[in-house]
Amino acid sequence: MVSADFPYAERYPVNRVLPEHGRPREEILAELREMAELEDRTWESGRVSGTMYSGDHEHYEFLNEAFGRYAHVNVLQRDICPSATRFEGEIIAMALDLMHAEAARGSGHEPVGMVTGGGTGSILHAVLAYRDHATQTRGVGSGGFNIVKPETAHPAFDKAGHLFGVEVRTVPVDPVTTTVTAEAMAGAIDADTIALVGSAGNYPYGTIDPIADLGALALEQGIGLHVDGCLGGFILPFGQELGQDIPDFDFRVPGVTTISADTHKYGYALKGTSTLLFRDKAVRNSQYFAHTRWSGGKYHSPGMEGSRSGGLLAATWASMVHLGRAGYREYAREIFTAADAMKEAVRSHPQLRLMGSPTFCFSFTSDVFDIYHVYDAMRARGWRFNGQQYPNAIHMATTRPQTQPGVVEAFAADLSDAVEIAEGKHAAGEVAASSGIYGSVPEALLDQADPVIREVMAQMLDQQQSLPPAP
Ligand SMILES: *Cc1c(COP(=O)(O)O)cnc(C)c1O
Repeated sequence: MVSADFPYAERYPVNRVLPEHGRPREEILAELREMAELEDRTWESGRVSGTMYSGDHEHYEFLNEAFGRYAHVNVLQRDICPSATRFEGEIIAMALDLMHAEAARGSGHEPVGMVTGGGTGSILHAVLAYRDHATQTRGVGSGGFNIVKPETAHPAFDKAGHLFGVEVRTVPVDPVTTTVTAEAMAGAIDADTIALVGSAGNYPYGTIDPIADLGALALEQGIGLHVDGCLGGFILPFGQELGQDIPDFDFRVPGVTTISADTHKYGYALKGTSTLLFRDKAVRNSQYFAHTRWSGGKYHSPGMEGSRSGGLLAATWASMVHLGRAGYREYAREIFTAADAMKEAVRSHPQLRLMGSPTFCFSFTSDVFDIYHVYDAMRARGWRFNGQQYPNAIHMATTRPQTQPGVVEAFAADLSDAVEIAEGKHAAGEVAASSGIYGSVPEALLDQADPVIREVMAQMLDQQQSLPPAP
């Protein structure tokens, strides 16, 4: 039986135990090559949203060589790899430069950063740092601590709250702009609030929260403001230089105290790194960990991880110094050009509605029919988008694979077909196949549905970590 989760079950042997005798390297590499080539085909066409930010195999080969040179090195042991300090220090310095940390330096702060394992890692460390800094400087309030985020801000903030015992207060966004207002955020603040969150841009709609207003609010309240630039951090600054309508969201904005920016997204590095930047060294250092009396020796680490691979630092550094500002700007120009053309294709259909004023990443819905009819028809034509809920919408993050010749034109043509099909299905009273899986649950069923959805999610995770059924 070949299921979607186990397409290789019949093609290759299934290792149910650690084999007594190993196989030749060449044989294993051939098998790996075969699976990778099969899987590359799904995104090389440019029809997959997000996920493959570079998509350039020559770039990947270059990164893989950089990674391979240092993959076996543990950067916790700097005495044998001082190169890691060069990589890490320079990655942080370059990211701080991109976020205009010089503006913070002028106001008497010492901007610093850290390299984490990904966007989630950067957000976790930001929340941890705010919590520990607040604990050290003002003491825990009677109600513990809380942070305030727009509902569109990434679930990693909720994960951080869950892990570190910080309450996460969620503020609804304006349904038209898809961003929060400072007034709405102010309503959720109390004496135990340690930080606000704003996104540049948010994942669901690719829109940018009013960072200047949030910064002013944070300053007035004497609390932090984290700008989540996980997605936008390495592309919005170049979009701004190219004349796209992008407001300042970095350390030039008073009140911005931390920024996350993912090198493993539009930094075009390998998966597994991100940067977290601080206006003030004291906040970063508040979450440093040290054990001075361990029998294994004196132990300290900058973040939550212990041993880390030198390969990821080397590859991230290599990507940044290879591309430089001019390289990033050129990729940004191509991506914004493709995104603008795709958004124009959406706008050309009166039945579709683009949500807010999005950037390189955008969402659209319909007030006429269930947008999942469009999703179904586009999927049949090879497109992979993220299906969104509350409200139902289709999400597209434009990356380099979409800048290949013909992709934008194919999107426009397939979208026209899909809209026509959707109108027909809607008129016939048909229910979209994907709507029940990805779409919003009706208000009245929410409480009942929640435990069921959680159970299905757990089963999916279980399946991803299991073996195909025995023959
Ligand atoms: C991707 C993303 C994150 C989380 O990053 P991971 O790298 O998936 O852990 C956080 N915020 C935004 C806006 C993102 O797009």
